[in-house]
Amino acid sequence: MDNRMFRTAMGKFTTGVTVIVAEVDGQVHGMTANAFMSVSLDPKLILVSIDKKAKMNEVIQRSNQFTVNILSGNQKEMSMIFAGQIKEDKQVEFETVEGLPVIKDSLVSLVCNVYQDHEAGDHTLYIGEVINLNVQDGDPLAFYEGKYMQMT
Ligand code: FAD
Ligand code: NAD
Repeated sequence: MDNRMFRTAMGKFTTGVTVIVAEVDGQVHGMTANAFMSVSLDPKLILVSIDKKAKMNEVIQRSNQFTVNILSGNQKEMSMIFAGQIKEDKQVEFETVEGLPVIKDSLVSLVCNVYQDHEAGDHTLYIGEVINLNVQDGDPLAFYEGKYMQMT
């Protein structure tokens, strides 16, 4: 089975879109991710899967904390910025929750301490313990067959 067939198959699973954000040495780094899930209620755990080649790995390993920001339907540009799909440098304003940077106007921002990490093939799975969160009303940004979609 080739990579394209696997990606085509996985792309049939509709997801939301998140931006993972972490800070080290005063530098904030963001990365778009759709490999996100809720894991446990007691304790409150979530999981993200990050390619070992991504810069975000080193940032999370050094900071041991990160935020997961679930994007709303009108934040496609944020996803494109943090996936490197917009080439020119864009200034992004962050807010802080518990001292950690979050993306303004996200549907949800989860503030996490790294609880566990696991190597899985060419990705690292980070399980985060959620220590605080913000929720706002709105419609989500979705990702299906490699394309962004809005629900309304
Ligand atoms: P870079 O590629 O260096 O950074 C990402 C981009 O964010 C760059 O363009 C950079 O300029 C910009 N950026 C970073 N910080 C800031 C800042 N403070 N201000 C302004 N711009 C900034 N990959 C995975 O590993 N797991 C996934 O679950 C996943 N899901 C994805 C879902 C979607 C819908 C898409 C489109 C991509 C997904 N990717 C995923 C791929 C991943 O988003 C890209 O490969 C990304 O470029 C990897 O980021 P990086 O940490 O290597 O850093
Ligand atoms: P695509 O067709 O590459 O993605 C469709 C689906 O395939 C994704 O939703 C994901 O489930 C899976 N997928 C894609 N790349 C993967 C990878 N390296 N490891 C594990 N699963 C992967 O969609 P696209 O619009 O071409 O994606 C844009 C870029 O973002 C591509 O370079 C893609 O590789 C990357 N991406 C990576 C992941 C990931 O690492 N988990 C997830 C989504 C997109």
